Amino acid sequence: MGICKSEAVVTRSIRLGETSKIVWLYTKDFGRVKAVAKGARSPKNRFGSSLELFTHCSVVFYCKERRDLQLLSQSDTLRHFSILETDVARFAFASACFELLDTMVVGEDSNPPLFQLLLDTLGSFEECPKQGLRSVFWAFELKAAELLGYKPELFRCCRCDKEGELKRFAPLKGGLVCRACGLREPDSFEISPAARELLRTLQSRDISEAGSQAPVPRLEGEVDRVLEVFLQFHVDRLPGLKSLRLLKSLR
Ligand SMILES: [Zn+2]
Repeated sequence: MGICKSEAVVTRSIRLGETSKIVWLYTKDFGRVKAVAKGARSPKNRFGSSLELFTHCSVVFYCKERRDLQLLSQSDTLRHFSILETDVARFAFASACFELLDTMVVGEDSNPPLFQLLLDTLGSFEECPKQGLRSVFWAFELKAAELLGYKPELFRCCRCDKEGELKRFAPLKGGLVCRACGLREPDSFEISPAARELLRTLQSRDISEAGSQAPVPRLEGEVDRVLEVFLQFHVDRLPGLKSLRLLKSLR
């Protein structure tokens, strides 16, 4: 593939030797990329602060197919989402998005809309009131699933296509089912009208509006569960994600 240029978000980094770093990037044009940044921790480092966590940057790297670790040659900061580093709750939600993305995206497929969703999500986490953080996270889960090809169906019955009486959620079918169809779906469970409406609102509106969604504490456990059970059918390693457990403890 040779020289590659793209926009990227730094989702993780570790030290390598005395002066270098390994960085995990989610890129706009090449999906997930892991790269070594030689000299990134030396005093005269040419990358500046562009490889800090939560940074949107433009990168140039040498890419060899079938090589796990690419070589980063240039990186410039476009935007640093600095509040995410210092506020514990914002840090936890943004890290959970990174971990989820890392688990949901297979291989190096490019998905520019998903990259844009990640940027918009980080922007919302930075700007929204604290009580809106969880709604932004739910909107990210819904929209990421949609962009990866498994949008949950929240407006019609997944089995019979009927529009009314959608009182149960059937993760295996991929969304809501009517009461009659629910009886034939052993994995389905009851969903409250309020949780159903909240999910519909988050799915159909722009993510920038999610953070202003009025917080409804009594729905947190239910909506968390619906999305978690749904994603488990599509994402193999989901139950083991540390950041999701951390989010539960923030409730
Ligand atoms: Zn039905």
